[in-house]
Amino acid sequence: MVSNAIFIHHSDSSGYKFHDDHPFDPIRQVLTIDLLKEAQALTDEQIIQPDYLIDENMLRLVHRHDYVQAVKLLDTEDDPRSKAVLAEQFGLQTEDTPFFPGLHKAASAIVTGSVEAAEAVMSGRTLHAFHLAGGLHHAFPDRASGFCVYNDASIAITHIRNKYNARVLYIDTDVHHGDGVQWSFYDDSEVCTYSIHETGKYLFPGTGYAYEKGVDQGFGTCFNVPLEPFTEDESWLESFNVTIRKVIEAFKPDVILSQHGCDAHAYDPLSHIHCSMRIYQEIPAILHELAHTYTEGRWIALGGGGYDIWRVVPRAWSQVWLEMTDHPLAEAIRAHEVEALPAAWLERWSSASPVPLPNNWQDDSSAIPPIPRRDIITEQNRNTQSIVIQDL
Ligand SMILES: [Zn+2]
Ligand SMILES: [Zn+2]
Repeated sequence: MVSNAIFIHHSDSSGYKFHDDHPFDPIRQVLTIDLLKEAQALTDEQIIQPDYLIDENMLRLVHRHDYVQAVKLLDTEDDPRSKAVLAEQFGLQTEDTPFFPGLHKAASAIVTGSVEAAEAVMSGRTLHAFHLAGGLHHAFPDRASGFCVYNDASIAITHIRNKYNARVLYIDTDVHHGDGVQWSFYDDSEVCTYSIHETGKYLFPGTGYAYEKGVDQGFGTCFNVPLEPFTEDESWLESFNVTIRKVIEAFKPDVILSQHGCDAHAYDPLSHIHCSMRIYQEIPAILHELAHTYTEGRWIALGGGGYDIWRVVPRAWSQVWLEMTDHPLAEAIRAHEVEALPAAWLERWSSASPVPLPNNWQDDSSAIPPIPRRDIITEQNRNTQSIVIQDL
């Protein structure tokens, strides 16, 4: 039987934790799964838990041999000096992405989940799959970057290309440019990468300009929508709708693989985009519609960034699953028929959270002050939209 949607969670992916003060925290997965369960939207039977790790050949689809060896060696190397040299060489000695014991296993578990999700959709076992631990879009073939060690998104896409020869549209709505995935397929005409993010003028990784359009046969299959800092919901959604609809119409993919970083929220400590929960309701709804219109429903969704782990991430990622499963709660939240988050969830996590938890699924609009320069920002984003779609 073909199911509509599966939820993938590899238990070893919760080991992907740099240290206690690091913003990338796997408790995000626990909080989201618990919220969905308390909302009666996810059962243990719906959660697929892979009990294996992909082998090294799968990592090698994207990563260099010496890099994978280094990540593994860092687990067993005892001499602190050799360890430091190795970590330095491969981007694992930085403040952002420091090496920790068990890194190879945890990062491999994340890749496993994303490949499993891709396989489930491409083999026809399910129409949609969600792997919330995935979406580590900054990792490079030979180095770690921006909290990302193995690029599960690029590996899953390469696996789809090799095994199914399908045309893949990668859609990245994380507030940071999806650079690692873009560069993986920059010269590939069969993989189209699309990223909408805060402009690299002010934010890591400093790339993702509209003029980055691919090279050689891949020219014209790379799209970037760099938004102004302090962009709000209306302009964000307009920029997304105007551009992604043109892109998908032109590229005609066989499958959509989406990255759901939720760090464009006004509460997020690492960026300057000023959106609310509204975009995290709309993004999955738009992608879901596009999948059923263009790819016979084939849609693989991954997690990504999101650093207000208590107030934003659990609500935002829950929306992906509610939408994907056509759960009535998605519509009820949209229609304001259901406002409050499950009481048991709030009760369980309130004392652990350093900030007061929101009571409702949607943001209270008074909690996010309007931006005075809204018109100028909207105008600037419209200029960007027209540049992005000028050849389509
Ligand atoms: Zn991000
Ligand atoms: Zn569907």
